[in-house]
Amino acid sequence: MFYNIDFHIHTNFSDGEGSIEEVLSRAAGLGLKAIAITDHFEFADLGQLEPKMAALKKHLRAIRRQAVKYRLQVFTGIETGYDFPVGTELREMVDIIIRSIHSWPQGIDFKKVQLMDPVIWEIYKEQVLKLLQMHNTDIAGHMMGYFPFPPEQITGLSFADKRLVEREIRNKFFDQRWQAEVIKLAAGNNIAIEIHNPTLAPGPEFVRAAASKGVRFSLGSDAHRLSWVGKVDYGCQIFSQLKLTEKNLFWPGGGS
Ligand SMILES: [Zn+2]
Ligand SMILES: [Zn+2]
Repeated sequence: MFYNIDFHIHTNFSDGEGSIEEVLSRAAGLGLKAIAITDHFEFADLGQLEPKMAALKKHLRAIRRQAVKYRLQVFTGIETGYDFPVGTELREMVDIIIRSIHSWPQGIDFKKVQLMDPVIWEIYKEQVLKLLQMHNTDIAGHMMGYFPFPPEQITGLSFADKRLVEREIRNKFFDQRWQAEVIKLAAGNNIAIEIHNPTLAPGPEFVRAAASKGVRFSLGSDAHRLSWVGKVDYGCQIFSQLKLTEKNLFWPGGGS
């Protein structure tokens, strides 16, 4: 089974490589059925909200204007942080709100703590639980990977090495009790969990447990490069392996 969708794509509005036009043309060329452009919208200084909202509005208008030229369904979205305040205006501007963890709370000094210090991962896990209780959240993005490693702690590690470190962290610190709490909150608050292609996470056991509680899953490439658009094969493989169906798939607006 293969779903020709990708609900997590960046453009050069944030830190992606391609323009809107390039992303749309790539997605249409690949024969995708539906995509979401979900650029980063997260910043520490909330005094900047007004100009940033104006820029976002312009970006969303450009997406909608260009989307009509292509034979695929295009949703708009943002990827924001675990605690970014999303008000009604922003909620109504986009189809999809992904929340992911891109930073640590204030006050953690990584010169004093090591990457494999359990204390750090207790804090990370708390952030995930907080994310799952935030209003205006459709999808919890890459919660089991793309951790906000401080650069000095991962010097010299390749992309693949970092994914291995992440796997080790998941196995070591992401205990069953926490996973059950994640599933309970996602189900209770109707938040989909992303099956994130670059980090190949979460794994099938977690997905099976979450699906049994009615949690839905979003498929995302998290493409920052054009060549990644539509790469959701890991999620499709999990769906197939666990015999999940469209009912288990996140779709903007609640239906499927
Ligand atoms: Zn992210
Ligand atoms: Zn992303």
